[in-house]
Amino acid sequence: MGRVQGKVAMVTGGAGGLGAAQCRLFAREGARVAVADIDPAAAEAVAAEIREAGGEAMPVTLDVTDERGWDKAVAEVTGEMGRLDVLVNNAGIAILGSAEDMSLDDWRKTMAVNLDGVFLGIRAAIRAMKGHGGSIVNISSIKGMIADPMTVAYDASKAGVRNLTKSAALHCAQERYGIRVNSVHPTYVMTDLVRNAAASLDDPDAFLEEVLAKHPMGELCEPEDVAYAVLYLASEESRRVTGAEMVVDGGYLAQ
Ligand code: NAD
Repeated sequence: MGRVQGKVAMVTGGAGGLGAAQCRLFAREGARVAVADIDPAAAEAVAAEIREAGGEAMPVTLDVTDERGWDKAVAEVTGEMGRLDVLVNNAGIAILGSAEDMSLDDWRKTMAVNLDGVFLGIRAAIRAMKGHGGSIVNISSIKGMIADPMTVAYDASKAGVRNLTKSAALHCAQERYGIRVNSVHPTYVMTDLVRNAAASLDDPDAFLEEVLAKHPMGELCEPEDVAYAVLYLASEESRRVTGAEMVVDGGYLAQ
């Protein structure tokens, strides 16, 4: 028996670095997986890889900022897989900019994906899960707890996800829906999100060295490290955990 055996799990941004690792781990642990992403070909590639490995997976095309797109995507998943037990609101973007120089357009783009997208996902999932319960996991960041001068919109959006999670958790608890809502706060992981942000700086190597030096364990995390935290929150092992924050950061925030 897998740790999420028989559950139906949907992961947004499921074709990216952290999301794909979550999809693969969920499938290995017995879940049927909906790989939801704005990039249909990349979502299909991850779903195909899972199927080739003997798992069950379907691709779903979804832009998390699209309100109607959410209704369609959840209907596709429940139509094909029968139900929805787990939603991971994982899709996110990072646009560099300080409180002095960030454009309003970039601020709004960030908020649309990282905060509106999570709200829309939570709302759609509650509506789909409330008859039978479930687990919603929101991928925030250590940057939802501490800030950086270069990522004002990202940090604000991730802090928003932290308390959005708690409000939704309390609502679901109060209504006795059996739906738990938690957030995960990873440190830096070498995915496209970090690689692209670093590449836009004058000295990417110096930035990455500086980041590494802030990690007491002397290394960054891998996508699987985050996926295991998500797996725990998605599984029945965490059945009394809601409104909680799980940090996966190699000791970064302990300093
Ligand atoms: P990534 O860039 O590797 O992957 C992101 C995925 O999201 C891509 O597949 C992309 O196509 C998809 N996506 C982007 N916009 C979308 C939209 N509007 N709708 C649907 N899908 C969309 O990023 P990642 O590093 O895997 O990050 C995943 C999550 O983890 C993000 O929320 C990110 O903020 C968070 N996070 C990442 C790190 C890190 O260091 N990589 C650290 C902390 C938190």
